Amino acid sequence: MQSTMMNVPLTTAAILRHGSSVHGSATVRTLQLDGSVKVATFSEIGRRSAQLANALRACGITGDERVATLMWNNQEHVEAYCAVPSMGAVLHTLNLRLASDQLVYIGNHAQDQVVIVDGSLVPMMASVLLQLTSVHTIVVTGEVDLTPLHREGLTVVDYEEFISAQPETFDWPDLDEQSAAAACYTSGTTGDPKGVAYSHRSTYLHSMAACAADGLSVSSDDRILPIVPMFHANAWGLVYAALMAGAGLLMPDRFLQAEPLVRLIDVHKATIAGAVPTIWNDVLDFLDSNPSYDISSLGLVACGGSAVPVHLMKAFEERYNVQVVQAWGMTETSPLAAVARPPASLDAQERWRLRATQGRPVAGVELRIVDDGGNELPHDGEAVGELQVRGPWITGSYIGEEDGGDKFQDGWLRTGDVGRIDERSFVTLTDRTKDVIKSGGEWISSVELELLLAGHPDVLEASVIGVPDEKWQERPLAVIVVRDGRQVTPAQLRDFLDGKVATWWLPERWSFTAEVPKTSVGKFDKKRLRTLHANGELT
Ligand code: ADP
Repeated sequence: MQSTMMNVPLTTAAILRHGSSVHGSATVRTLQLDGSVKVATFSEIGRRSAQLANALRACGITGDERVATLMWNNQEHVEAYCAVPSMGAVLHTLNLRLASDQLVYIGNHAQDQVVIVDGSLVPMMASVLLQLTSVHTIVVTGEVDLTPLHREGLTVVDYEEFISAQPETFDWPDLDEQSAAAACYTSGTTGDPKGVAYSHRSTYLHSMAACAADGLSVSSDDRILPIVPMFHANAWGLVYAALMAGAGLLMPDRFLQAEPLVRLIDVHKATIAGAVPTIWNDVLDFLDSNPSYDISSLGLVACGGSAVPVHLMKAFEERYNVQVVQAWGMTETSPLAAVARPPASLDAQERWRLRATQGRPVAGVELRIVDDGGNELPHDGEAVGELQVRGPWITGSYIGEEDGGDKFQDGWLRTGDVGRIDERSFVTLTDRTKDVIKSGGEWISSVELELLLAGHPDVLEASVIGVPDEKWQERPLAVIVVRDGRQVTPAQLRDFLDGKVATWWLPERWSFTAEVPKTSVGKFDKKRLRTLHANGELT
């Protein structure tokens, strides 16, 4: 029997219509160079998005062409998020931290036709422009000199000029909810980046999951600060979630240092914020030496992208009364897949144990672990295997690769993460398959060593890689960044680890450095560390 329900497609246009009408007075505030904020209401965003869609239509975007953005988190980027997919085109968020050859690869692979570029990024755009073969129009935000972009056959236009003469309404088309809304590429730390195309339906459902109480609990009383870039897995869905819930957006633009971020939270009373652990490390350091700032408005800090050290969560909770919630996901999973919010009824110790995990799946997402032969393992908190995932906002293939190859097994995405799942469905990741350390036939978890070392009071950052060893095949090398003005020796760090892990896990190789290299999305770049070690540059 067929249902009697209406078949109304789940689209970004539906999110935009809802946000700009029901929550028309909610605001997007963008931090400016002088410390002030530029304010636009959701209803203004709705009108300006219509103008942007009309302008894009006029310059030849009539179907599912790709419109790229090379932008920070700001108002115009929100407008692109609203206009581009809702008109039927595909939003492609370019990662502005990629090397130019990767930008060129991605831009050409996606066949971008229009690029909306932040004024501060004009030099970067100019350096790759000639090689972007499908681009015919560049739209630039901010008041900057456009001449570096001038090329024969290319239209270069100021954003405000582009949209200003256009009508403030747009007849958003009825789209197939399964059609692509946005494309995002993995950061390609191994091999070429791979593209994922989010659908309208997946975006809509993912936004609802983000809003849910045991997701990121977003409501119209919230003001969200997405520090995670809008080019990194759609800023974890926070922008669409804000439009859906009517939560205000506080946009940091390019001012991503601890000081402007903390000031923004203090002055504009952010209630939810999202960023990778390295950012929160910096914020904590800054707050500890600048106690006059007040961040108590923050009810929830979403943190993920790499494992979140418990000492970081405890420091925020104990010193600033701010709850840091760990979440797990990937570009391929939209990204929200698991959130570590254990039931309040559990005792404090058990809750902390579960908050230190990568979380349990949100409704809609299924997780399993499998052994090397692809056999499912029990969720007993002990068996360790590769994590696999499926669900309506999990990618089933990559752009241009119809069969997906060995990244999929029986309709499940192979995440490349290794870990265990307990009886309550909480997942603990021990490593990524490419980072595990195999010592004498046994596994050492680089992540567990890193998390423990990061808990030492003199350690600012700790990254652990496996390096070749004649006797044991591989052994851990710990790369340590010491906090300013502090000193610590390998012997002290070994003593600190002693008793917390098996004796044979204790690293005998240590390297002290000013900074651990990071990937384009702010994670420890272990591939780079391995290369530095192979070249004898890590001592
Ligand atoms: P990339 O794969 O290029 O690093 P993604 O942002 O898609 O870019 O990374 C997804 C990966 O990040 C996951 O597969 C996992 O290894 C890691 N990750 C994400 N969240 C967490 C977390 N909370 N704890 C540990 N690792 C995480």
